[in-house]
Amino acid sequence: MKKNCQKEITPKPNESHMLRAIALGRKGALIEKSGGPFGCVIVDKNGEVIAEGYNQVIKNNDPTWHAEMHAIRDACQKVRSPHLTGCVLYTSAECCPMCLAAAYWARISHIFYASHMTDAYHYGKFQDLEIVTELVKEPQTREIPSYEFKRQEAVEVWKEFSSMPNRTHY
Ligand SMILES: [Zn+2]
Repeated sequence: MKKNCQKEITPKPNESHMLRAIALGRKGALIEKSGGPFGCVIVDKNGEVIAEGYNQVIKNNDPTWHAEMHAIRDACQKVRSPHLTGCVLYTSAECCPMCLAAAYWARISHIFYASHMTDAYHYGKFQDLEIVTELVKEPQTREIPSYEFKRQEAVEVWKEFSSMPNRTHY
C-alpha cells in the first residue's frame, strides 16, 4: 500500500505526547467512564499536536469510537485531507486491527504504542488478539462467516469506475 519504499528515519518518541495519550485513556475510562482506557495523540511533521482522542464506545454506543479512530478523523478534518503523510500516531495501547487499518488508509508515517494487546486482554479482556487471528482465516471459517455473493454485478461497477476519466485516486 505504501508506494514510497524508502522509509524515513524513525523519529525519536516524544515522552510528553505518549504521556498525554495515556492520560486521555485514563480520563475516558476512569473519570468519564466513556469506554476502555485507550488514548491517542497525532502529531504532524513539525512536531505539533493536531488531534487527540480517547475511547468513547460506551458513551456513544459506537463500537468504532476508538481513540485512534477519533484522532484520525479529527486530524484529517484539520488538514482537510484523508491522508496524514508524515504524521506520527501515539497510542496508549497497541492498535486493534480496525485502528491499524485506519492508520494505513490515512498513511500515518509512524506509530508508537505503550501497552500491548496482551495487556488489554489480561487487564480488560479486550479481544484484539482474537480478531488478529480471525483475519488470517478463510472468510467462511471465521467466527463471523463471510460468503461471496453477486460478484459479477459488483464488478460491473468496478469496471465503470476504472474507466472513468477523472476518477478519484486513493
Ligand atoms: Zn481500535
